[in-house]
Amino acid sequence: MSEENKTERIKCLIIGSGPAGYTAAIYAARADLKPILYTGMEPGGQLTTTTEVDNFPGYPEGIDGPTMMVQLQQQAERFGTEVRIGMVTEVQLSKEVGGIHKACVDNKTWVEAETVIISTGATAKYLGLPSEQRLRGGGVSACAVCDGFFYKGQDVAIVGGGDTAAEEATYLANICNKVTMLVRKDEMRASKAMQHRVTSTKNIDLRYNTEIDEVLGEQVVEGLRMVNNQTQEKEEIAITGLFIAIGHKPNTDIFKDQLEMDDTGYLITEPKTTKTNLPGVFASGDVQDKDYRQAVTAAGTGCMAALDAERYLATIESEEEVTA
Ligand code: NDP
Repeated sequence: MSEENKTERIKCLIIGSGPAGYTAAIYAARADLKPILYTGMEPGGQLTTTTEVDNFPGYPEGIDGPTMMVQLQQQAERFGTEVRIGMVTEVQLSKEVGGIHKACVDNKTWVEAETVIISTGATAKYLGLPSEQRLRGGGVSACAVCDGFFYKGQDVAIVGGGDTAAEEATYLANICNKVTMLVRKDEMRASKAMQHRVTSTKNIDLRYNTEIDEVLGEQVVEGLRMVNNQTQEKEEIAITGLFIAIGHKPNTDIFKDQLEMDDTGYLITEPKTTKTNLPGVFASGDVQDKDYRQAVTAAGTGCMAALDAERYLATIESEEEVTA
């Protein structure tokens, strides 16, 4: 067998390098599971696209997202996690208790693991306009809770009509001077209760049938040209921040037909645990959480996943001892 074709057998494979994956790695490494973590395409995850993180406990002055992720990686490595740049492109997960799970990395090498912790996260959807893409990090954000504070007392806009958009619009309305909310249909998809919160908030200017024609500004967001999709009438407003809240896509394509997911692709875990429907496979972070989606909640479930993996391995080992 050539060196490249040799299959490695490990105790704990962690897929994903956001706060969930690195926290799982810190705990798994300290429990001597000798975890190997594959970073995926975006090492550091969604936080690397954020500027300042002000709401992670323990950083009184705040910390920028990329630095925080480097520090989390260093902390995971300090206890022996092996962090590898690579994308898991296929998995063959065992249905048996004590079975071996297989993962293919970069369509090339296979790794065999007794436990797998999935922390592949979710990706925020964007509209895809060139002006929106150019100004990401310059006033265009997909997370009001992360970045809203920077627009205190200013005029901002938010796009979307779901629960996230409704919740973020009311969150922003508390901080900002005025929030213009753009909903592309003549109704919102958000729950009635959330809609009521939006319509009863005075400084939210709700615009139905309205889409973005262009985000204005060269280096930073300076305004928005909106278009009414019924009348084609255009209107420009001055804003400093634009929040895109049109949904997230959980990164679960490679687990289809193997792991239980809800109808939007989020992995389903047993309540109060990180256990998926397969033994030895655990899920943590945004890939299994569409409600909270915070770095600190992701880190919390990463910790839970490592503890669940450790307990699972301990149970198997003690069963093996009994039958030996
Ligand atoms: P949703 O998929 O529910 O809503 C997405 C919204 O974005 C819709 O209004 C959709 O419009 C709009 N949209 C999509 N693409 C575009 C586009 N290209 N241009 C303009 N608008 C667009 O996503 P959410 O993130 O809001 O919610 C995801 C799930 O999480 C839901 O099940 C939600 O209930 C849940 N959630 C629950 C919360 C809670 O209970 N507190 C909080 C947050 C989320 P259209 O309707 O026209 O398709």
